[in-house]
Amino acid sequence: MGPSELRALVRDVPDYPVEGVMFKDVTPVLADPRALASLVELIAEPFRGAGVTRVAGIEARGFTLATPVALALGVGFAPFRKPGKLPYRVHAEEYQLEYGSDALQAHVDAINPGERVLIVDDVVATGGTAGAAARLVRHFGAEVAGLGAFIELEFLNGREALPGIEFHTIVSYA
Ligand code: AMP
Repeated sequence: MGPSELRALVRDVPDYPVEGVMFKDVTPVLADPRALASLVELIAEPFRGAGVTRVAGIEARGFTLATPVALALGVGFAPFRKPGKLPYRVHAEEYQLEYGSDALQAHVDAINPGERVLIVDDVVATGGTAGAAARLVRHFGAEVAGLGAFIELEFLNGREALPGIEFHTIVSYA
């Protein structure tokens, strides 16, 4: 399946989780075995031969794509989670939301210095979350090999918030 067929499977849910947001629900894509296989391959493909040593997935929908992408690239997976979810000692990176702040955490032994890490999420909106993930990768003394995501909400300018990061998305909304 190509990007336009995948795009047709995305379900728009208006006013979720708050009024005014058009939520991009990717569960129909995950539910279709041909769509899922195609999407995983499309995310992994630009990063083949890029020396990726690990894939980091962003909680929680990012995990569903990051783990099979790690398998496709023949590397391991690291979960980047919201505070309080990981059982062992963590590194944390805070980021600003429209109101207040949030953080991403990773286990202190999730990534080794010198690794090349591909960050994967389902949707990139403002780029705030992906930016925090990139800072977390660098906190380990590792390099960001790139960012791979299914959907880019272009009108929120996430790309501008992620300068210097090789950024590939499959479907974008202007
Ligand atoms: P961002 O604004 O780029 O930091 O987006 C934050 C997180 O919220 C990402 O991990 C996305 O998965 C999710 N997200 C933001 N906007 C949407 C949306 N319209 N539909 C689905 N997920 C979204």
